[in-house]
Amino acid sequence: MADTRAVPIGEQRFSGKEQKAVTSPYDGKELARIPVCEPADVDRAVAAAKDALANNPLAPWKRAEILDTAARLLKERNEEFARTIAAEAAKPIKTARVEAQRAISTFTFAATEARKLSGEMVPIDASDVGDGKLAFTLPIPIGVVGAISPFNFPLNLVAHKVAPAIAAGCPVVLKPATQTPLSAIQLAELLLNDCGLPAGYLNVVTGSGGTVGNAIVEHPDIALITFTGSGQVGWELKAKAGRKKVGLELGNNAPIILEPDGDWDRAARQISVAGFSHAGQSCISIQRIYVHEEIADRFTDTLAKLVGDLVVGDPMEDNTDVSALITPDDSTRVKEWIDEAVAAGAEVVTGGDVVDGLVQPTVLRNVTSDMRVMREEVFGPVVGIQSYRDVDEALALANDTDYGLQAGIFTRNLDHAIAAARTLEYGGVTVNEVPTWRADQMPYGGVKASGNTREGPAYSVHEMTEFRLVVIQPS
Ligand code: NAP
Repeated sequence: MADTRAVPIGEQRFSGKEQKAVTSPYDGKELARIPVCEPADVDRAVAAAKDALANNPLAPWKRAEILDTAARLLKERNEEFARTIAAEAAKPIKTARVEAQRAISTFTFAATEARKLSGEMVPIDASDVGDGKLAFTLPIPIGVVGAISPFNFPLNLVAHKVAPAIAAGCPVVLKPATQTPLSAIQLAELLLNDCGLPAGYLNVVTGSGGTVGNAIVEHPDIALITFTGSGQVGWELKAKAGRKKVGLELGNNAPIILEPDGDWDRAARQISVAGFSHAGQSCISIQRIYVHEEIADRFTDTLAKLVGDLVVGDPMEDNTDVSALITPDDSTRVKEWIDEAVAAGAEVVTGGDVVDGLVQPTVLRNVTSDMRVMREEVFGPVVGIQSYRDVDEALALANDTDYGLQAGIFTRNLDHAIAAARTLEYGGVTVNEVPTWRADQMPYGGVKASGNTREGPAYSVHEMTEFRLVVIQPS
């Protein structure tokens, strides 16, 4: 008997006229079935959300209480969530546990924001026209939030949309990625059944991006779209969204610069995780490594050894470092990009093959900026190493891309660190830390093709809030 996960739409649990199987990217086993929603279901979800906002507004203390309860229950049920993530995304269980832990942090910081949310006094009597008047801004929920999330962080990136929306008092219509909807449904049930979130404040509509996602984007009663995913979908969606506010968190091909005075040995150890965890399917996975020519050979040997030792296999095994890509097509694409780079002069230092359907962790050297493994977003377990002569050349190489999410440098030279912070055209720059590093409260987001907003509960709550000006003339 198929295990169908009904989705919450208002008071209802909806199983859909049709269902679709969610399968493990690792072994193809069916994990559950989900409803195939239609645009009419999005209409019902938006209507329920509008109704909740109009007739059951959430006071800030209640928002904070719900978010605190969610953080506590996520902690208690962490392993359960980690196992769902690992199963549906083929994210190795040890990496899935980190994601599940991070979701606790996201809800905890959102609870803080709910308690802090306030407007500001406006110095209206600083001009003669305002003499005698009082003015301030009042935080108002922006309205119904349409949230569209990607496959690669099926829990914490949903948390980054839902938790701030609750903190801001906004109801949500959520469309999780079709490949990984189970963590999102599990989170919604936790919030609605066990944390006191009223019905209508979180509605989940599963189904394809082109149908359900598009219906969210075009719906006239949605005030804000928060989207995380590929640039191809994101920028197109923004063009269609009309008067809605649209926040985009998009792709990247993260560079790291390794100076000879930096602790490149530690960098190698960190890169062997940061370039390969979840098989490189993170938006800030390290992809481009620029290493000073003085240390290039020693660094490459060290990294190759570490990457060669990574354990590739079943995501549910505790010792697995790297598992399957999200679809077999992605494995084929990544292999093609590796072969294309090799044909153009790159050298495989380790990996380079697909074994039993799994792309082996791959380090390439002698790569150039025009190869797809360097120019585009690989989203696979592949890094390319290019050597450089001086830091200015390295900074120029790191900037030679359309993307701009996060970049990093390892150096002990303060001038070079400052030059990197000032010159690198990215939303975030890390010094002596890999650009794959993220804490959930920090402002996180990109420039250029990588997006137009910052996530992190404080920043998202601000985006989801209308600051209404109130002017009072004493009578
Ligand atoms: P994707 O293919 O763009 O899908 C993202 C979401 O958009 C999915 O829910 C998808 O639904 C939906 N969608 C697809 N077409 C749509 C349309 N026409 N209208 C509305 N929604 C639509 O991205 P992905 O492959 O899941 O995720 C990988 C990408 O996300 C990478 O580029 C990665 O760098 C980026 N990412 C960025 C961040 C960040 O914070 N900057 C974080 C994580 C990931 P279906 O699943 O049904 O297709």
